[in-house]
Amino acid sequence: MWITPRPAPLNAASPSLLSALETCPKKAGYQQDSETRGWSRPSTRTALGIAAHAFTERTLQGSPARGVSLDDWLTQMWTLVVEEQRDKLRQRWPGREVPLPTSWPGYASTKVRLIRSLKRRYQSGQISNGAPGTARPVPTPRVSVGGHPPLPWVERRLEDPDTGLFGYPDRVEEVDGRLRVVDLKAGVHQGSMTSGQLRQLLIYAHLVRVALGRLPHEVVIVDVKGAEEQTSVCEEMVAQTIAKACSDVAMFNNAIESQMIPASPSSESCRWCDFRVLCEDYWEARADDWNVRGDLVGEAVSVTSGHELQLALDSQDGAAPYRLVLPSTRDIRSGDYVVAVGCESSGFNTSRARWNSLVRVVNDRSGD
Ligand code: SF4
Repeated sequence: MWITPRPAPLNAASPSLLSALETCPKKAGYQQDSETRGWSRPSTRTALGIAAHAFTERTLQGSPARGVSLDDWLTQMWTLVVEEQRDKLRQRWPGREVPLPTSWPGYASTKVRLIRSLKRRYQSGQISNGAPGTARPVPTPRVSVGGHPPLPWVERRLEDPDTGLFGYPDRVEEVDGRLRVVDLKAGVHQGSMTSGQLRQLLIYAHLVRVALGRLPHEVVIVDVKGAEEQTSVCEEMVAQTIAKACSDVAMFNNAIESQMIPASPSSESCRWCDFRVLCEDYWEARADDWNVRGDLVGEAVSVTSGHELQLALDSQDGAAPYRLVLPSTRDIRSGDYVVAVGCESSGFNTSRARWNSLVRVVNDRSGD
């Protein structure tokens, strides 16, 4: 019924994997297992974040064509990157109706803040828009180092062969003689730098030193309004972060070898985890106050049509069958077990799967 992840031991790790390890090692296990990782699919939330990154980096490196106003160019670039992400959502969710971007949570505020921020930076000359007198105050030295191209680097893969750590910092640049690692945080609610974000940036700082032979002076987070928060980098912080990362990877590999990957179920860690559809620890631990009423598991007692069925829910032993409406036809028979996550209530004793609900029919691991 439930599936235990069986990944191969890690020989490389990125900050996002280390973050998953800290949140829940079992989640990292599902991500690393080729049999289960396909259950994790992009959401409008992740698509919006990627679009915000792409928009910022492309506009920082480009400029409007002659005769195109700054406003029009920024709007066109935004539309382009968002449509690219919508296409990717369609590819990962075949047969599902991906909603229009204007209805994605956070879309309007992210768009307005990003465009306003980029426009302000162009107009103030912080970044060049191709017009005379709008170059950065102190140009970045364009000298290649150790086989690497000149700075700035944008989403360049950096790695440390000794530890297996690798990553793609949004931007590595040198401004006024100070080497900086810059990360764009596209979340509308980005507040102060979190400990997880600092760890990610310190790992990037370590990778920059491996590449350039010197430690960055500071790590910086930029929010969608263009506001920067920076932290000075010191040797001790980086050393502690790298030692902890290596220790976490070693512990995870021991857990893989012993086939006992621990889970850390909680409202916070499970809420955004697509592997709820596979994970027994989640279903055993979940509580009413986790706000996950859209997640259902039970036996199909009757199937009205290929996309409508009655479930005897595990959580309501002896209660009347519960009606579930699916977004598309599935091969489900009475007696099958059905796990559905992310559904919405749709009247008395009824739930309806959303466009991005994950539905698993046991013995049908290839299904969606
Ligand atoms: S559902 Fe929760 S417990 Fe299970 S892997 Fe995901 S985060 Fe971990």
